[in-house]
Amino acid sequence: MGKSNVVVVGGYNQDLTWYTSAFPRPGETVMGRFVTGPGGKGSNQAFAAARAGARTAFVGAVGDDHFGDPLPALYEKEGIDHHLVVKPNHPTGNAGIWVDENGRNDIIVDLGANNALLAEDVPEELVASARVVVCQHETNLAANQRAFEIAKRNGVKTVLNPAPTRDDFDESILSLVDIIMPNETEFASLVARMGFYDAGEFSEQMMVGLGDEDLHDLCRQFSVPVVIVTLGKHGCFVSTETEYRKLPTIDVEHVVDTCGAGDAFVGGFSAGLVRFGGDVFKSAVFGNITAGLSVTRPGTAPSMPQLAEIEPYLKSQGLD
Ligand code: AMP
Repeated sequence: MGKSNVVVVGGYNQDLTWYTSAFPRPGETVMGRFVTGPGGKGSNQAFAAARAGARTAFVGAVGDDHFGDPLPALYEKEGIDHHLVVKPNHPTGNAGIWVDENGRNDIIVDLGANNALLAEDVPEELVASARVVVCQHETNLAANQRAFEIAKRNGVKTVLNPAPTRDDFDESILSLVDIIMPNETEFASLVARMGFYDAGEFSEQMMVGLGDEDLHDLCRQFSVPVVIVTLGKHGCFVSTETEYRKLPTIDVEHVVDTCGAGDAFVGGFSAGLVRFGGDVFKSAVFGNITAGLSVTRPGTAPSMPQLAEIEPYLKSQGLD
C-alpha cells in the first residue's frame, strides 16, 4: 500500500433500506421497496475524500460474512486504499432503515465488527505517513485515541467528527484534536455535556437564536484549535483561535436526499486540507461544495461527487 494523504479510521455499515407508504404498526406486515448499499460514516467519508481527489485509505473492521466479503473490491474500484481487519465473531456493521412516503426514517444499527476495531488494529505506518487522519464515533473509541496519538507524534492533522453522539465519549481525546466538526445536534449536546453554557441548560433549539459571536465564544471553550459546526442548508460556521466566519453552501435546485451530507462535508473538507495546504476556510468551502452536490442525489456513499463536478464551483469562488 502506498502513502495515503487522508486516512479515515471508522465504521462501515451495510445499509438495508425499505421504502414504504407507512411504517408497520407492531405485529403488522406492510409491503415496501428494498435497496441496499454501502454506508457507515467512516466509509462514506473515505468515498467523499477519494472522489474529491485525495489519495485516501480506509481503516475499519468487518465480519467474516457476505456483507464484508465484497468490501475490498468495492474500495479498489473507488481507488481507496484499505486496511480491513476481519472479526470472525461479529457481523459486519449494518443498518436497517425504513423510509415512509414523507421521507421520515426509522433506523436500527448494529455496529457489529466496527465496535471490535481495537487500538492495536490501527496501522501505525499508514497513519504516521498521512497528512490528515479522520475519526468518527462509529467504532470502538479506543481506536480513535490510538489513531490520534500516532498522528500527533508524527505531525499529522487530526479531524474528529463526533457523530453520532456517544455517552461513553471521553473528553480527554480533545487534547489530540486539531479540528472538531460536529453538526448542530452534536454541537449542542457536547456544549451541554461539557457545561460550556454559563446561563443554565443548553439545547439544540437554542442554536437558532445564537449570534455568530456567541457561537464563536462557545466554540472557543472546546480548547480545540479549529471548530467547524455544519449548519445543514445554511452551510457551516468556522471558528479558529483568531477569527470566525459563516460560509454558505451552494445553491441547489432540488434536494433529493440529505442522508450522508455530513459525511460528504467531512470527506470533502479533508481532501480540501490536502489541496489547500491546511487552509481551513478554503477547505470548508470545498466541504460545502462536496456536501451541497451530494444532497442532489440519492444514497450516501454513491451520492458523493467526483472532483470534476466540484471544480467548476471552486473556480466560481476563485479557488483553483
Ligand atoms: P448537516 O450535517 O445537515 O449539517 O449538513 C452537512 C453539510 O451538507 C452542510 O454543511 C451543507 O454544506 C450541506 N447541506 C446539508 N443540507 C443541505 C441543503 N438542503 N442544501 C445544500 N447543502 C446542504
